[in-house]
Amino acid sequence: MKPHTISNDAQLNSNGRLSHLLGLEGLPKNQIEKILDVADDLIDKKGNLQKTKILRDMSVANLFFEPSTRTRNTFEIAGKRTSAKTINVDLANSATKKNETLMDTMHTLKAMQIDMFVIRHKQNGLPHHVAENIKGVSIINAGDGINAHPTQALLDVLTIRQHKKAFDNLSVAIVGDIRHSRVARSGIQAMKTLGTTDIRLIAPETLHYKEETPGLERFDNLDQGIEGADVIISLRLQKERMIAADIPDEQTYFEGFGLTNERLKLAKPDAIVMHPGPVNRGIELSSNVADGPQSVILQQVTNGIAVRMAVMEILAGAF
Ligand code: ASP
Repeated sequence: MKPHTISNDAQLNSNGRLSHLLGLEGLPKNQIEKILDVADDLIDKKGNLQKTKILRDMSVANLFFEPSTRTRNTFEIAGKRTSAKTINVDLANSATKKNETLMDTMHTLKAMQIDMFVIRHKQNGLPHHVAENIKGVSIINAGDGINAHPTQALLDVLTIRQHKKAFDNLSVAIVGDIRHSRVARSGIQAMKTLGTTDIRLIAPETLHYKEETPGLERFDNLDQGIEGADVIISLRLQKERMIAADIPDEQTYFEGFGLTNERLKLAKPDAIVMHPGPVNRGIELSSNVADGPQSVILQQVTNGIAVRMAVMEILAGAF
């Protein structure tokens, strides 16, 4: 499955304003920073999220064709915290099960006066296709196949910024199932745009990108890859996108690529550990790393609400 290219013409209007959020490839630095700044302003000094009225006249529909806990619920909460009317379309019991096409479902929902659609789908490029074929609504990509997961990457860089302030001198190690990860793909795009040059990809050969990745250093040894890192992003083994031969058994994988407290000592002493979730404990991370003092996994979740509020507010024209 090849990733899908999203041109900025598809998501920026003629005034350079965001009209959809489909992906981060080529999205200008000032647009990314604006989203992070709006999100940061929604979090007070105690770490509590604000409520706003910005989307009070708007309706937002969540359409999740793939499973989700964090992304779907934080989009729903973000919608409510900006005063939008949010609906979770029950796809298991909807007319898509009676063979209605996705575009017919979308037009039907638009006729119900929905203003924004949050879409997750296994097909690369599906949110882009929808954005091109339905006018007068905003589309937010909540994850398409192996292609992009822009709000996850934005909440990841927001979390990194809160801990590390700047991006240019950072060493970031991304560990695990890189090949199938839309999180890694969008995260790399965001970090590169923000100025990070030392991005290391650590995986068994079968889980590295097939294509060339100029400027990204590849490792097949975890200890070497995380040495001196400031940030470690561990990724889930996405078996639903693999063929069985892609990974050894889980125990062997953990021995090679699982992050333990012992190994974490090879990174900088103040390194942070991130994971987009869901975590497979004892496979990608040991439990004491996942719950340990360097883990910022739950802060990522809270930041997800702030980032999704910020994206919706910007799409609504507020900033
Ligand atoms: N939740 C993330 C995603 O939807 C990561 C994962 O599922 O592994 O891509």
